Amino acid sequence: MVDEEVRRPRSLVRRLVGRVRREAYALLGRTTFGTIVSVSTERPMVALTFDDGPHPDWTPRLLDVLDRHGAKATFFVVGEHVARYPEVMQRLHADGHALGNHGQRHVRFPLISAAERRRELRACAEALAPYPQPRRLFRPPHMNQSLASRFVTWRLGYDVIACNRDATDWEHPTSEQMVRALSDLRAGDVVLLHDAIYGEPGRSRAAMIEAVDAVLAAHAPRIEFVTVPALLRAGRPRRKLWLMVSSRARAAARGSASA
Ligand SMILES: [Zn+2]
Repeated sequence: MVDEEVRRPRSLVRRLVGRVRREAYALLGRTTFGTIVSVSTERPMVALTFDDGPHPDWTPRLLDVLDRHGAKATFFVVGEHVARYPEVMQRLHADGHALGNHGQRHVRFPLISAAERRRELRACAEALAPYPQPRRLFRPPHMNQSLASRFVTWRLGYDVIACNRDATDWEHPTSEQMVRALSDLRAGDVVLLHDAIYGEPGRSRAAMIEAVDAVLAAHAPRIEFVTVPALLRAGRPRRKLWLMVSSRARAAARGSASA
């Protein structure tokens, strides 16, 4: 009985603190500090986004498919790949696709210092300098983000773009599974895909490209596939406070710190 009486006020305080924190986070998430997950729009537009490239083989193949359907997309590129494959970058830019910053070396931002985060962002931005963009977009590597890492990207004027649709194409789904996952695209959706898998340059993207071809064919002409900046111009961004630090990454960081 005594224990009960002692525990009750404590858990009440904990619940209250939790509630206040959740509400504060929800409010903060709706400001420009929040991460964009989709766009509220009446216009039938969807943004496909591709991470981790450019890749010398898969990106041009994907671009052929996008071209064939008259689709535009957004590529969140890794700085060290940008420098390595300038001819792919030139085509991406010339074809009218949007480009965003995905860090210089694809490291998890919550696990590095503020100075390292700034270095990662600036190095990738420098690599992207020959391909000017209408706005600064950033997608956190592994989608990992903390309050502190968002503060750095916010200070440097980046909008963070997450997604509300995901075909988990970095795992090993078949093209049919990916098509099914994206069978009911709606106006304002932002779709996460990968034209390369960072650290695995040999990984085939054939199934993903096949799926994109089928998704574009299935949704045309009902939906227009546009870049993220074009989608943002067509409506109002839906934002939320996106905080994610994978427990595996934390364990790995602890391991390397103690090693
Ligand atoms: Zn990535």
